[in-house]
Amino acid sequence: MLRPFWVDLHMHTALSPCGELEMGAPDIIGRAKEVGLDVIGIADHNTCENFPGVSAAAKTAGGTPFVLPCIETQSAEDIHILCVFPDYETAYKYKEWLWLKIRPIKNDVDHFGYQVVIDENNDIIKEEETLLIQGAGYEVDQIVTKVHEVGGLAILAHVDRPSFSYPAALGPMPQDYPADAFELSCRLNSEQAAQWRDNYPGRTFIRSSDSHMLSGLSRANCTKMTLEAPTFEEIRKAIKGEEGRRISWPWG
Ligand SMILES: [Zn+2]
Ligand SMILES: [Zn+2]
Repeated sequence: MLRPFWVDLHMHTALSPCGELEMGAPDIIGRAKEVGLDVIGIADHNTCENFPGVSAAAKTAGGTPFVLPCIETQSAEDIHILCVFPDYETAYKYKEWLWLKIRPIKNDVDHFGYQVVIDENNDIIKEEETLLIQGAGYEVDQIVTKVHEVGGLAILAHVDRPSFSYPAALGPMPQDYPADAFELSCRLNSEQAAQWRDNYPGRTFIRSSDSHMLSGLSRANCTKMTLEAPTFEEIRKAIKGEEGRRISWPWG
């Protein structure tokens, strides 16, 4: 039976240099449950290694919310692409491809903060020493193609933002740009958001929190999707508008 699910595909953890240390595994799961999120995407910059910890914390907490492995990839043009994967193995394989073109720049902890991989209890497994906020040596088109090749979804992140977005780097998206969806920031009001929808008729838009702290997680900052179950395949169908699955316009 189809029913509404609340989906936030884009949030950061303590592994992102900008992510607060409070973005731990049980903490994210606790907050997501409290505010009623059904699906969350763990989308750190250029990596996915905190997915296992957060996913394990969800299982310990009774199996909800459903957690998806994502990577917010930064392209050579400094465009952010929200890459959503069906499973961790696929995400990790993509990450290995991505890291062929990540430069060995060291993270400056004083400037950017810590980047830590944690387990489901927030115990630190390792500190990531390579700076995660950097453009990989692949262009946006190559990234979208690769994500599709491995079976993932490529969503242009926060296209309304004046930095780290497709429009900021290259100008307006072509109407038929091969991304699966465009993401809008949750900070837009309904008039601003409607303008984007009007400019790209027929395109799918999602809203995400892109949160770096717990207080940013809420139903007001995410996207309602009509699905049969909270799974990657159901979300893929909703984005494509297949078999009655659909995405509700986030600004109602
Ligand atoms: Zn971003
Ligand atoms: Zn982000």
